[in-house]
Amino acid sequence: MKRFTKVLCVALVFGLLFAGLVFAEGDEAETGADAEEPASQQTGEQDLTEPQEQTEQPEDAETAEQPAQEEETPPETQPQETPAETPAQEPAEEREYRTDERTYLWIGLAYGSGAVNRITLKCSDGFLIVKGNNKGWKETDITTDSKTLTIVPSGGQATVVDENGTTILGGMGNGGYIVMSAAEDPEDRLITINGSKYRDGATATVTGGKLNVINVIELEHYVRGVVANEMGYSYPLEALKAQAITARSYAYRNINKHKNYGIDLCTTQDCQVYRGYVSEHDTTDEACSQTAGKVLTYDGKITESFYYAYSGGATLNSEDVWANALPYCRGKVDEYYSDYKWAVHYTMDELTEEMVSRGKNIGDVVSVQVTERHNTGAVAEVTFVGTKGTAKFTKSTILSVLGLKSFMFAMNDSQFVWSKDGQAVVSDAKINVLGAGSAGEGLSSVYVIGANGDVVETSASDVRITNGTETAMPQGNVSEGWTDDPVRSDVVYIAGSGWGHGVGMPQTSARNMAELGFDCEQILQYYYEGTEIGDLADFIQ
Ligand SMILES: [Zn+2]
Repeated sequence: MKRFTKVLCVALVFGLLFAGLVFAEGDEAETGADAEEPASQQTGEQDLTEPQEQTEQPEDAETAEQPAQEEETPPETQPQETPAETPAQEPAEEREYRTDERTYLWIGLAYGSGAVNRITLKCSDGFLIVKGNNKGWKETDITTDSKTLTIVPSGGQATVVDENGTTILGGMGNGGYIVMSAAEDPEDRLITINGSKYRDGATATVTGGKLNVINVIELEHYVRGVVANEMGYSYPLEALKAQAITARSYAYRNINKHKNYGIDLCTTQDCQVYRGYVSEHDTTDEACSQTAGKVLTYDGKITESFYYAYSGGATLNSEDVWANALPYCRGKVDEYYSDYKWAVHYTMDELTEEMVSRGKNIGDVVSVQVTERHNTGAVAEVTFVGTKGTAKFTKSTILSVLGLKSFMFAMNDSQFVWSKDGQAVVSDAKINVLGAGSAGEGLSSVYVIGANGDVVETSASDVRITNGTETAMPQGNVSEGWTDDPVRSDVVYIAGSGWGHGVGMPQTSARNMAELGFDCEQILQYYYEGTEIGDLADFIQ
């Protein structure tokens, strides 16, 4: 970047201005700062130039075709629907947990290496000590008047101690015990877990002498704690509703995902970002309540419904990124995308090191090339040629091997700059105009003198400067007007658009569709082809 700034100082190539091929680039350009950026990705606290990364990790897809939870678990009693099929093997006690049509999730707030020594629970309404599972809970004989409870590890068990220091329960998590807010109305059930507010209840298990902290929460309450983290709460209602439905579908479909830790879901982008009560907003709550109990279905099953921030102009088939083909995650040109530009560069030495670290014995890398694209323009294959051999990369490995944000990219032997007609023209360059201050600081127009002596009046915001050798940055559909020749220069420049794995719904595109007047069903059906909005109640056994 410094290199290019120097170039800027010496290279006022006005002749190029008239050719319409003049570009400038500032440091901000690489971060993709864009007038169209969402106002509040995440909860609005984050740097707007950093939209969340892909929501689900690529590894998730290995399980993408697993049958939904309702098929894995023996159906529980639901006499009104399937009297003849009620299995006998389910313990009678378990069946009593189906107290309503509600589903509960075990959310790992801190577990594994993040496990803690002590948990403090507070609730102004007091606590119920209950037993339960994903299908509900019931009260036990254990009662307490304490409004503060402490959980400590003792003898390898999570032990609950009241305000007087009296142990009221040992082995809570493993026994299915939950400390639940005693509030009468389920909507008022709020507890504090180590200083942060969550809905419903908490439990804990012990591993390696430390406590895994678990929020046991009703599914709809959980979704309220997710939507604003996954999509800015200022997004249009129909986009938020689409997000609420996908978040609910994903959660139900992934019950037991982190079974090894005794939890269903974690709170990170590996599953869905969940921060509890603090994430709730009027707008996202409205989206949740308007879609309460609604899930996305395909062929009578709840969908996996992957999503991510920016498509960069096209979505991908799930099997073009991961292993499994989900019939409703089909690659297509995204008519509603917002551009999100990024750029990286590597030396051939760095690419050689990357090959070595991956055990690819191809010698010194001498060229790298996009060797295949999908018909949407998304990159399908990248080939590294070395002095001793060749290595080809496909699917999600393309992103990891080159450290890229999306599959919509191009490679080049010189630095990319923003294209003149790009949606995201950002420049730190200050153009000194004699007697008039700086362009871009209040000047609406400037006069530009061409190499042939012609003078043209133009808008200051349209002025670009280049040293004449840089190349325009590819637009969304990078396959158009772009060559994928092998790059053999010492430095390989890569520029692209989009942020995320490319499978399913791009959240910023959902926002754009909502702003154009599409409703949540239309948004979902555009990105998840052949799906329908269904009732979760139909899937609950
Ligand atoms: Zn997870």
